[in-house]
Amino acid sequence: MEKLEMLYEGKAKKVYKTDADNQYIVEYKDDATAFNGLKKGTITDKGIMNNTISSKLFELLEQKGIRTHYIKKLSDREMLVKKVTIVPLEVLVRNYAAGSMTKRYGIPEGTKMDSTVLEFCYKNDELGDPFINEYYIKAMKLAEEADVKIIENMALKINEILIEFMKGINIDLVDFKLEFGRTSEGEIILADEISPDTCRLWDAATHEKLDKDRFRRDMGKVEEGYMEVVNRICG
Ligand code: UDP
Repeated sequence: MEKLEMLYEGKAKKVYKTDADNQYIVEYKDDATAFNGLKKGTITDKGIMNNTISSKLFELLEQKGIRTHYIKKLSDREMLVKKVTIVPLEVLVRNYAAGSMTKRYGIPEGTKMDSTVLEFCYKNDELGDPFINEYYIKAMKLAEEADVKIIENMALKINEILIEFMKGINIDLVDFKLEFGRTSEGEIILADEISPDTCRLWDAATHEKLDKDRFRRDMGKVEEGYMEVVNRICG
């Protein structure tokens, strides 16, 4: 398989065409951004760590029957994926209050939710990924109603699988963000990544943060947090 021209460069990943039909290569970068790109930096070897973590979690989800864009890990920083058209939604799943939820609703960080909170944002960097709901999604033709239902069900199932897995490595899955895509056959599958860039992961015993909040809040030991997740997942 040959890596061809770059199609797209995002904040944390680059996407390349390949000579294979309907297959792209995703390359994970060390660049880190927060607060809608206002804060910029690098996290040493983040690309390698996130590719490792994402690959493992996609493999786990596939084993549990979730269809994803993941095909295989190609190298330290590269993953082979199915070509999809990204549904322009960020699907946030929350088990404990953190981040924007604590600010918006005044709920103390770490409060356990009585039931899972599912939230949609419109994936649009210029607008800062604003909060939206099913009515907007329908009215703005961002996705079909039936597809939104599929996405919701998949997100809740993914949450169950990840909570259980993280529990086994002494991590509380606080919240995370998912993106979905549509294949050329029209199937909705999980896309993007699942990593400490897109999840809040706390040590179950000490509540130590092992995710991008260490970077967002200048807490130090950022690389160590990501590495701890790699070690627990691969150990
Ligand atoms: N998240 C993400 N990308 C975004 C927004 C959120 O990966 O553009 C993740 C974030 O890391 C956290 C979860 O989604 O695990 C919930 O994020 P929140 O809405 O609290 O926003 P944040 O505090 O990250 O701005």
